[in-house]
Amino acid sequence: MIAMKFGGSSVANAERIRHVAGIVKDRMDLKPVLVLSAMGDTTDHLLDAGEAALKGTVSVDQVEALHRSTVADLGLPQAVVDAEILPLLAELKSLLVGISLIRELTGRTRDYLVSFGERLSIRVAAAYFRSIGVKAQALDAWDAGFRSDSNFTSAELLDETYANVKAKLVPLADSGVLPVVTGFIAKDADGNITTLGRGGSDLTATVIGAAVGAEEVQVWKDVDGILTADPRVVKTATPVEAVTYDEAAELAYFGAQVLHPRSMQPCIKSGTTVRVKNSYNPAAVGTRIVGALDGGAVPVRAITSKKNVTVVDIVSTRMLGQHGFLARVFAYFEAHKLSVDMVATSEVSLSLTLDSAHDLAALKRDLEKIASVDIKKGKAIVTLIGEVSRSSEILEKTFGVCVAKGINVQMVSQGASKVNISFIVDDGQGPDLVRALHEGFFGK
Ligand code: ASP
Ligand code: MG
Repeated sequence: MIAMKFGGSSVANAERIRHVAGIVKDRMDLKPVLVLSAMGDTTDHLLDAGEAALKGTVSVDQVEALHRSTVADLGLPQAVVDAEILPLLAELKSLLVGISLIRELTGRTRDYLVSFGERLSIRVAAAYFRSIGVKAQALDAWDAGFRSDSNFTSAELLDETYANVKAKLVPLADSGVLPVVTGFIAKDADGNITTLGRGGSDLTATVIGAAVGAEEVQVWKDVDGILTADPRVVKTATPVEAVTYDEAAELAYFGAQVLHPRSMQPCIKSGTTVRVKNSYNPAAVGTRIVGALDGGAVPVRAITSKKNVTVVDIVSTRMLGQHGFLARVFAYFEAHKLSVDMVATSEVSLSLTLDSAHDLAALKRDLEKIASVDIKKGKAIVTLIGEVSRSSEILEKTFGVCVAKGINVQMVSQGASKVNISFIVDDGQGPDLVRALHEGFFGK
């Protein structure tokens, strides 16, 4: 079996759904399970509709129009629309009326609200598959076995999910049925609908792949796999043949928009291969994501960067070597609910980075009780993902490139076993450095 996942933009309209259906139909001999996101930006539109309902305006127009026009464009029979699409739209409308009356939108209600996106998209897609002769069955995640805790808006799946999913989906696929499953959602023990966090459909697909012992989980995108760099920054970026789960998770975190960071977890346990494929170029092999890889000729697999980073430079005003300094510093970050990205320390000082979106005045006042503090905005993190066992090679080349370019590296961080080496430079120099490093490591 294989699991195939298509995101919102891959099923954004009738034309895209037809295209996806063609790709899946060609692979029916591999016994696929299909996981879909909500059509296009439907999740966002549902959240907007919830906010509007809070202010007293009930409207499902945008969501209704998209699904109605898609169903019409796909030429689906009216009976399908009446039986499967209209009841969901009616339920959605009732929910919005409820929100507008109570003027309250809790996490639980929000999850119920956004669930309509995926519940609609799988029904539209499954009906289309049947119309082209594929025996497809739409399954809400809970009917496919997904159970979660009650941590609404970012629920964790319960272990029993794996056995449930296997028991449900394997016989279906074995009997020639194409299960079309909602990404992103689940139900808790009380039967409340939950979601796995934004972008959670990737996780749905990897859980299914691990549960059914799939040969491969295919995550279909609109690029030829994971690229060596952001193609908007580096025009010559090329697909990476293979990366490890750890590397993929790092890349996801650094905004490479590859996969949901948590989605690697199920496959790390089961050892299932994940493959990122391009729906616009199905013949391309894509990028394989696996547990371990032999060292390649180039020690670096991909280069990413993140803009708008703030560096907080903290120098202890206390005695040298006093214990508890780091604990106190991090306690302030915890108190202000600030998540730290990079850290570098010396005996008396500590530098760390954060997203620039935060107002740090209050944090600075607290930190100044124990240290002198300097906050520097307008920085970029440039990250090399690769084999840290070859870090000397990586660092030598990187600093060579920086010297040649006249770029001053302001902070460096590298773990003992991690796959990432990160540098802080001025924001304006980030793209230049990424291009120069790409040329240095990949020769283009
Ligand atoms: N539709 C959900 C979202 O937009 C889940 C997903 O696309 O993976 O976040
Ligand atoms: Mg989406």
